[in-house]
Amino acid sequence: MDEDELSIVDLDNTIYDTDRLIRDLKVEIEMRVGHISSQKFWSCYEQVRLETGAVDLTRTLELCAALVRCQDHVRLVDLIWNFPNPESYVIDGAIATLRYLRGRGKVMIMTDGERLFQESKILGSGLVHEVDQYLVYPGKTKHFLSVAAENPSSVVNILDDKPSVAADARQLFGAKARIIMVAYGKYGAGLLQDGCEDADVIIGSISDLPAAHQRLVAQH
Ligand SMILES: [Mg+2]
Repeated sequence: MDEDELSIVDLDNTIYDTDRLIRDLKVEIEMRVGHISSQKFWSCYEQVRLETGAVDLTRTLELCAALVRCQDHVRLVDLIWNFPNPESYVIDGAIATLRYLRGRGKVMIMTDGERLFQESKILGSGLVHEVDQYLVYPGKTKHFLSVAAENPSSVVNILDDKPSVAADARQLFGAKARIIMVAYGKYGAGLLQDGCEDADVIIGSISDLPAAHQRLVAQH
């Protein structure tokens, strides 16, 4: 059993139910600022997403400031940066999986996206206490090799929900990567239907990881 593994674990829709958070935010925003301001907020959200290719709530709030009443903007800022019960979006089984992986080496959360929103999820949920490190890097796979060089290991476990991450990881790490895809969120149905040639295994839930990982270890 090798215990010098490096595990690079994705955040959104791998260990954290960001899809559900966004659905809940939609309801909460409408309740707090009403339909018109809510629509303006979400049209800014889509505009920023189209312009930058990523969700960026800081920019969304900046853009929205000119379009909604001041008091609604204050409510939006408060809600976005202090959304209720951030710990409730940690996916069942995620903590046990992180603890299992930590028993085998170093574990880091590595996520794309915007720093403030990602940190509000990682810190607010307490996930920060379950990992050795977290990194927020837009275009994160570009940083995989440097992160692996800083954390030498015999194996790199990649845990993600996005097929393109599996492809990048396989290209970068070759056979050293143990790629485990979680069929969850918007890529989930496609993963289950079409598979993923770069993945070693596709699991239906993060809680299946320890058993799936042990099977992979036994095969090699
Ligand atoms: Mg993800």
